[in-house]
Amino acid sequence: MTGASPGSPAVPTGRGRDSLRDGGTGGRILQALRTSGPATRADLSRILGISRTRVGQVIGELARMNLVTDAPAPHGQEARLGRPGSAVRLRTGLGFVVGVNITHAHVRCLATDLAHVVVAAADEPLVDPLDIDQAIEVVARVVRRVIDKAAAVQGECLGVGLALPAPIDPETLRAAPSSCHQLWVDAPVRELLQARIGLPVYVGNHGNLAVLAERLWGDGHRVDDFIWIGLDTNVGGGICSGGQLLRGRDGFAGELGHIVVDPRGEICRCGNQGCLETVASLDSMQRALRPVYGEVEPSRIFELIGRAEPAALRAITNLGTHVGVAVSTLINILNPSLFIVGGLLSRQCGPVILDAIRTEMNRRALPAARRSVRLQFSALRRPEPLGAAALVLMDTSRHLVIDEAGRPHWT
Ligand SMILES: [Zn+2]
Repeated sequence: MTGASPGSPAVPTGRGRDSLRDGGTGGRILQALRTSGPATRADLSRILGISRTRVGQVIGELARMNLVTDAPAPHGQEARLGRPGSAVRLRTGLGFVVGVNITHAHVRCLATDLAHVVVAAADEPLVDPLDIDQAIEVVARVVRRVIDKAAAVQGECLGVGLALPAPIDPETLRAAPSSCHQLWVDAPVRELLQARIGLPVYVGNHGNLAVLAERLWGDGHRVDDFIWIGLDTNVGGGICSGGQLLRGRDGFAGELGHIVVDPRGEICRCGNQGCLETVASLDSMQRALRPVYGEVEPSRIFELIGRAEPAALRAITNLGTHVGVAVSTLINILNPSLFIVGGLLSRQCGPVILDAIRTEMNRRALPAARRSVRLQFSALRRPEPLGAAALVLMDTSRHLVIDEAGRPHWT
C-alpha cells in the first residue's frame, strides 16, 4: 500500500469523502475494520458483499486520505494466505475505546485503539463503597486516567464499555439482582458515569462480554459456535451461536451458573436448588476445603492443588465433574465446536479441572455432538474489560467524517 504514514495530513478527495457518507463503501469498510479489527481485502469483500476489485480501489482512496494503513495478516491467516502484510487496519490516532470491568474488589480498565491493540490500562481497588455515587466516582477516576494515557497518541475516545457481574435488563440497561454488590442492582450506572465523563457509556454482563472478547481477541475468532464458562466467585457464561452472541428474548441467555446439576443440592442465591454455582464457584471450593484447612484464600487453594494435596484434588475434581454435567447438557442442546473455560478457578487449577470436565463430558454428552468439541482454557487474561471495549467498537451509531480542513473526526 502507498498510504500516508500515521500523523501526516489527510488528503481528502471529493470521491473519497463521498465514499465515507452513510451507506458509502468507504464508510462500510471503516466500520468493518473498527468492528472486526485488521482484515484482508478478501475478508472485507466477503463480509461486505463487494467485489475484491472495488474493495481494493476504495482501500486505496482511504489510504490516500490517511485513514487506513497496512497490517500483518490477521491471527491464524498467515499460512492460508501466504502473503504477510496483505491486510489493512485503521491507522493509529483515529481514536480509541475504553473497557471497564467491575469486580467485587476492583475496577480494571483498559483502552484499545481502533485496530484492537491495547494501548493503556489502569486498576484501582473498590472495597465496600458507601453508595453508588462513591463507587461511580472511583470508576470515573480510573477511566479518566486511562483516557489521559491514551488520548495523546490515539486521539478521540469514542466511548466507554462497562462490564458488570450481573444480567443486564435490555430495557433499562440496569443490573438485575445477582451476586454483584447490591449497590449496583437497578442503579442508573450508565447515566451516572456518562454525566461524570461526558462520553457515551455501554453496559453489558461479564459472560456476554467475555464472548465478545473471545470473538475479537481469543480462540472464538476462528469458530462460530462456542460457549464460554467463567469459574470465579460466581459462575458466569455466554454463548456464541452462528457467529452471533446469543442474547435471548430478554437478554438473559447464557446464565450457565444456574443450570441445575443436583436437584437435591444447596439452595442457590437465585432461589432455586442445586444450581451449578452452588458447587462450582470459588465460594464452594472454599467451603469444601474448610473441614481440612479452615478458611483458605484463593492463592492457598491453587498452592494446595499445585502440591497435589488429596483433599484439594478431590474438591477440584468434584467441581469439574459438576461443570462437566452442565457442559454435557449444553453440548447436547447447542452442538458447539469449542468450550472455553475462563475465570480465576480455571487455568490456575491446572489440567486436573479440564480432565474432570472432559471425563464427565465423555460419559454424558451424545457421541455425535461431543466428537468435534474442543475443551480448553481461555487464552485471555482479562476478557471482561476487553469485551466491554468490544461493545463500544461494535456500536454502529458513530461515523468517521472528514471536515472541510481535511481532519477526520467522529460524528
Ligand atoms: Zn441459581
